[in-house]
Amino acid sequence: MSTTSTPATSTFEIRRSDTPVPAAERAEAMAAPTFGTVFTDHMARVSWSLADGWHDRRVEKYGPLLLDPATAVLHYAQEIFEGLKAYRHADGSVWTFRPSANAARFARSAHRLALPELTEADFLGAITALVSTDVDWVPSGEETSLYLRPFMYGSERFLGVRPSLEAEFLVIASPVGPYFAHGVQPVSIWVAQDYHRVGAGGTGAAKCGGNYAASLLPQQEAYGHGCEQVCFLDAATNSVLEELGGMNVFLVHADGSVSTPELTGSILEGVTRSSVIRLLTDAGHEVSERRITLAELLGGLADGSVAEVFACGTAAVITPIGRLAGEGFDTTVADGAAGGVTMRVRAELTDIQYGRATDRHGWLHRLV
Ligand SMILES: *Cc1c(COP(=O)(O)O)cnc(C)c1O
Repeated sequence: MSTTSTPATSTFEIRRSDTPVPAAERAEAMAAPTFGTVFTDHMARVSWSLADGWHDRRVEKYGPLLLDPATAVLHYAQEIFEGLKAYRHADGSVWTFRPSANAARFARSAHRLALPELTEADFLGAITALVSTDVDWVPSGEETSLYLRPFMYGSERFLGVRPSLEAEFLVIASPVGPYFAHGVQPVSIWVAQDYHRVGAGGTGAAKCGGNYAASLLPQQEAYGHGCEQVCFLDAATNSVLEELGGMNVFLVHADGSVSTPELTGSILEGVTRSSVIRLLTDAGHEVSERRITLAELLGGLADGSVAEVFACGTAAVITPIGRLAGEGFDTTVADGAAGGVTMRVRAELTDIQYGRATDRHGWLHRLV
């Protein structure tokens, strides 16, 4: 058991499904799930209205939502989400990683999207209640986990343009296999120069569905160029590295120092990003958060002063980048293989998450 103090969590009423998936069917669904296609028996839910505040904290049967066609979110995209994982340790216990950071970011996202802020106690209470109810859905294989997707949307039936006076908060859960089914493989990145994710004063620092909607066309353009992911530049100068559609980015220099784009308000502050900064700093790397131009990166790849590039986020943890292409350039990162610093920090992080290494920063939070 963890001896660190646990943050307060709200109590949820458990309304069990009377038609849970039979054990044999569940085992089959969990054997090799494609990301985001298999869901557990239940979902956690809290409703909000201006008049009553947050109310009706419950876990109920997973199922479709009934939405009036005039529901606010369908028209003006007043929606935010989070992503975190529940990990099963060797002794059978189930843990999550820095959930208070996700709860705090969720509250910041809510503020930016003019949605009601949810307390950390409700955020953690929902996750704890759902994972406890659906604990049999937490897989135990290597690099498997139960992916948790908290989200909130404006649910008022109203077409006027103003913040919704009603909202729904839900958490759904999906068992996921290893992100890289055949071992960690470096990915190719397309640098978008015609499209931007967000601009100054926009919603870049909020985790909202609208940012993803804006990233899909450039993402499609990346596929067209034989790349798996897109990297965005700043909207103001079209020259400064920001991040990928859903991952932050890091450069490892030949002298062992590391740099990552600074938080400007248009970049999402990743929990993985902050954990990686901490682990690399602990390991003696000098890590700077600063302005990095595309020209600097391309120059560094050409003269060898940039030795490794990687992306990071909860879903894939850490993904080596082996190739970088854009209008007028197409270059490998070093020899195109996964770098040593990249793979070391990836192993350190996953060892903590799966309970194989000492959690010296108190990042783990026990759920079951
Ligand atoms: C969620 C997300 C990330 C990664 O954040 P983590 O907390 O590390 O999962 C990075 N960029 C964007 C745009 C995101 O939405």
